[in-house]
Amino acid sequence: MADSTLIQTHALLLKKVVHRESDALLTLFTQRHGKLTVNARGAQRSTKRFGGALEPMHCLLVEVAKGRGEHFDLRSARVEVPRLALTGSLERMEAAGRVLGWLRKSAVERTPEPQVWQLVDNLLDRLDSREALDVSVPLASTGLALLAAWGWGLELESCVRCGRECPQGKAAFVDAARGGLVCVACGGARTRIDAAQRQRLVAAAQGDADALSSDDAALTLQLTETALRAHADIG
Ligand SMILES: [Zn+2]
Repeated sequence: MADSTLIQTHALLLKKVVHRESDALLTLFTQRHGKLTVNARGAQRSTKRFGGALEPMHCLLVEVAKGRGEHFDLRSARVEVPRLALTGSLERMEAAGRVLGWLRKSAVERTPEPQVWQLVDNLLDRLDSREALDVSVPLASTGLALLAAWGWGLELESCVRCGRECPQGKAAFVDAARGGLVCVACGGARTRIDAAQRQRLVAAAQGDADALSSDDAALTLQLTETALRAHADIG
């Protein structure tokens, strides 16, 4: 990124903090450059400047330029893909808010993460669809896939301590904070997953968005957030 270049990119708003009365400091997750901290001058003074564009959940199109300070300056912003079905449902808003929270804590500033962008954009589109949906299922699948994209994928096929492979069709113990399966010889773990469930989690982690069932979602989300806490400060 050359310093004076104007960068146009799709973006998601992760965080907005008002400062100096009329300005706002934004944390954006952008398609082209990953997480960026951006100063939006006058964002609070009038809604004319950026319209109603500085809202989470929608896919924004922004132009940013390197500012004088350490942050970028927001030059323009508009909503490119409004997600009105999503923002009209509390349940879907909560699911989207949860994944944006993971991004806020785990994405690395100024590091392009195209795979992460794609996963989150796909999830938000799905949450915006009119289909009847147990939202925890795509959320949990996305969680597993995000762990893999960040290089923190859960090892669900062999023991993370001794490396011994867990044969297909066998139940196993999993400790997400330690990265995956822990075999009995290595002390096991509190959480036990049966063979079929383990297979579904492996498929979901490899990107099969329909692999998980509703019964898997709560456990999968718990494993995901335990793993995220072990790697990033997700609180
Ligand atoms: Zn072991």
